[in-house]
Amino acid sequence: MEDRFKNLRNQAARIVTILVVCIILFSIGLYDFAYAHVEGVRSFVYWRFMFGLPTTVNLMIIAAMWFILESPNIKAKVKNITVMYVMLLVCFVTITVFQRFSASFAMYGIPVLFSAVFVDKKIARMTAANAFFFNFLSYGIGKLYTEPYQCPDAEICFVISTTCIAISCVLSIVLFHAMQDNLAALNAGAANNESLEKKLEKDPMTGLYNHSAFYTHLDRLVKERNDAPLSLAVVDIDNFKRINDTYGHNNGDEVILRLTHIMRERCEDGNNCVCRYGGEEFAVIFPNVKVKQAKEIMDGVLQEFREQRYDWLEGNVTFSCGIFQLSAYRMSSTEFFRVADKMLYQAKHSGKNQCVSG
Ligand code: GH3
Ligand code: MG
Ligand code: MG
Repeated sequence: MEDRFKNLRNQAARIVTILVVCIILFSIGLYDFAYAHVEGVRSFVYWRFMFGLPTTVNLMIIAAMWFILESPNIKAKVKNITVMYVMLLVCFVTITVFQRFSASFAMYGIPVLFSAVFVDKKIARMTAANAFFFNFLSYGIGKLYTEPYQCPDAEICFVISTTCIAISCVLSIVLFHAMQDNLAALNAGAANNESLEKKLEKDPMTGLYNHSAFYTHLDRLVKERNDAPLSLAVVDIDNFKRINDTYGHNNGDEVILRLTHIMRERCEDGNNCVCRYGGEEFAVIFPNVKVKQAKEIMDGVLQEFREQRYDWLEGNVTFSCGIFQLSAYRMSSTEFFRVADKMLYQAKHSGKNQCVSG
């Protein structure tokens, strides 16, 4: 599946990385300031908690995150979950260490809000649940280690942060639904485009692949070809101008539709590709079919077409056909078509109403 959240996820990862760098700079500044002004700060404990811990742990988390995001073999969903966990962990480390600053508790709202953008209920729920859990953990650790960085109003901080997470959850639900609607509109647009592209490939009268689709398919098959055979049949209805001139265009159309029906019945097997590349000119691409077998199929088509009876016509209508198999010699799709077309003209010059292969 297409990884449609790649840009968004990488953007989030860059923001978290910048945030961590800011936290580190802040810790250095804080440590410098505290070292100069606060009594007892020279202690190892202070150094470790106010500077060492958020720096080391956050940097490790960020490194692990980028490693996962840059790994080509890891699924997009796992990468999305990684970004959310990294956000939560960075919040947890930072808040736990800096809980003396009550405002830091509001940070837990960020991952909860952000989780909505992935439009995945599981990720959103997981993030919200973890935010509440980590928040409680931060509070617990603050209570456990009273010195020297304990929050002065731990209970109040806890209530504030829980409220923040709850508000973020509500906003996240709103955001989630907005994103879901956008995604549904995008998907509908993509499906429309796809069906439009499919329509553009088809000839409206017969429903067969049209001129440009024929060349696109042929070109692709010639380029992708390995040792498997690839045959091409080109068909042109005999004396069709006369049918049109004598019996009218509508009757001419009926002949085209009869031939279309027979070709579909006899040639289409999910592999072969039947095309109408001109007015009364058709082509069948036969991947993995040898020329002998392709000729047998086309002889069958001609036989059935020849036996068709029309209310407005005495006698029958026939076609001429040229069949050629791509040789080992490297040929372009244009050359391939030209040789098959040459076979068709041989059939025309040898009296029409026949299939000629080469
Ligand atoms: P030949 O046996 O040598 O092929 O002679 P022909 O009369 O069939 O000559 P040609 O292949 O040049 O004739 C093509 C004719 O097909 C000309 C055009 O009026 C007619 N035609 C092209 N498209 C359509 C169509 O969609 N419906 C109808 N009724 N006629 C079409
Ligand atoms: Mg013609
Ligand atoms: Mg013709």
